[in-house]
Amino acid sequence: MSFTKLRKEIKIKDVWEARKQISSIICRTPVIQSTILSELISRNVYLKLENVHEVGAFKVRGAANKILSLGEEERKRGVTTYSTGNHGMAVAYVAKKLGIDAVVCISNRVPKAKVDSLKRLGAQIEIVGDSQDAAGVHCYQLEKDKGLTVIEPFDDPYVIAGQGTIGLELLEDLPNLTDVIVPLSGGGLLSGIGLTLKSMDRNIRVTGVSMEKSAVMYESLKACKPIMMEESETLADSLLGGIGLDNQYTFQMVQKYMNDVVLISEEKIAYSMGFMMDKHRMILEGAAATGIAAVLDGKIPHQKGDVAVIISGQNVDLSVLPTIIQKYLYKK
Ligand SMILES: *Cc1c(COP(=O)(O)O)cnc(C)c1O
Repeated sequence: MSFTKLRKEIKIKDVWEARKQISSIICRTPVIQSTILSELISRNVYLKLENVHEVGAFKVRGAANKILSLGEEERKRGVTTYSTGNHGMAVAYVAKKLGIDAVVCISNRVPKAKVDSLKRLGAQIEIVGDSQDAAGVHCYQLEKDKGLTVIEPFDDPYVIAGQGTIGLELLEDLPNLTDVIVPLSGGGLLSGIGLTLKSMDRNIRVTGVSMEKSAVMYESLKACKPIMMEESETLADSLLGGIGLDNQYTFQMVQKYMNDVVLISEEKIAYSMGFMMDKHRMILEGAAATGIAAVLDGKIPHQKGDVAVIISGQNVDLSVLPTIIQKYLYKK
């Protein structure tokens, strides 16, 4: 399969192009200062609120840019995707807006709240296997059998450029930005933001954050090649999933653009979710709370300059919140 994929280098002009394309569907998101985090580390800490998209996560940017790039014939046949949830929702949301059919293939590990939201968005759901990789295999079968277009969750130039539009907004809103903290899974988010920020200012440091368990990109970078890993339970379920053994883009881009990587324990993810509910009255999903945990832990490399934390999503199953609140209150 890697022979047929035409490898294209992604450039900053692709990100500008993406911004033009997606502006009809996606709203610019706010940046707010977190006074409490700023005081804690004696630097200005800003939160880039990607949780405020209608689907509750940034993935709608990449999905919109990819689907808008499809021709008339491809649109008629429809699209399909495999996903731990947010990407699937983004694809369903964009497809519906454009009047395109969408089939979402997911693993049985995806939380019920996400499955329900997918159905509400009008997607056809197919549940297959217990990993994102198994769902992926099924998805490609649909492409072969029915001619649907697979919308990749991260390893696609249009998806990466779409996520990169976050970087453009950050540069405009935060002229003194020196550090950005980015939740990291397949690396589409970090690749897009890293490419954009570094093409404007090479000194901006990009820190990736993942959970300690099943941090596939982290382990792949250590091994100097994409590897496979068993998935395990984590509060940061949106960060689960492989990076693809024939990864074409994000492995190399993360290698190139990421300065540091921080792994966060389940306990700290839970605490950070509690912290955000308490101090900011904001419900975040575990994946998005990893960036807050990195700040609370003092893991930001520079000594001065403004810090931006990408608040990547809010789609958490409500049933996990009581335990998290209780643990947070007890710890405090
Ligand atoms: C997908 C996702 C991420 C990670 O993005 P990648 O492009 O896969 O690295 C982080 N946070 C949330 C909420 C997500 O849905």
